[in-house]
Amino acid sequence: MRLARIKLSGFKSFVDPTVFHAPTNLTGIVGPNGCGKSNIIDAVRWVMGEGSAKVLRGESMADVIFSGSSTRKPVGTATVELIFDNSDGRVAGQFAGYNEISVKRQVSRDGVSNYFLNGTRCRRKDVRDLFLGTGLGSRSYSIIEQGMISEVVEARPEEIRGHLEEAAGISKYKERRRETENR
Ligand code: ATP
Ligand code: MG
Repeated sequence: MRLARIKLSGFKSFVDPTVFHAPTNLTGIVGPNGCGKSNIIDAVRWVMGEGSAKVLRGESMADVIFSGSSTRKPVGTATVELIFDNSDGRVAGQFAGYNEISVKRQVSRDGVSNYFLNGTRCRRKDVRDLFLGTGLGSRSYSIIEQGMISEVVEARPEEIRGHLEEAAGISKYKERRRETENR
């Protein structure tokens, strides 16, 4: 499963509908300071269910919505959609036979978030479950930010274990067990 496209609308500085294509396994995003490179990474994290405004470099969740500029009025909703190429059929189950998998999140100023998988409304948990154990995820090691290398080097043993469990694909089963135990 490979990220093929990112669609943004009303998200941070991307007020107009914008599509980024990632046609190959290695895609670089370059541009001057403040042009929105990190906002794209924030968008990817956000769709995958990130719930902390601070991790997304804001103070409240509404900070992800375009807040206006000298020439444009603020907008009322932010939408981000990730489209994954599943032509190798790696993701089966409910997605068997789908060449593409779309994960979308939308939020309005009242703070209500909606999630969609291939256009059908779903829970945040369904989105998180899709990524659990794949190495992808809003807080997983697949997004490496400035300062994270030293965080890993200085991490406590149980934090390192968390990364290893995600890489080995067992975090999914641990999460299910936690859910069952909490019932
Ligand atoms: P650098 O090279 O310095 O890391 P960058 O390309 O990563 O820059 P970003 O941090 O992605 O830049 O973008 C910052 C810009 O996004 C700022 O101009 C900021 O005003 C704008 N921005 C962030 N949130 C919003 C928002 N909610 N509404 C409008 N603009 C926003
Ligand atoms: Mg940046």
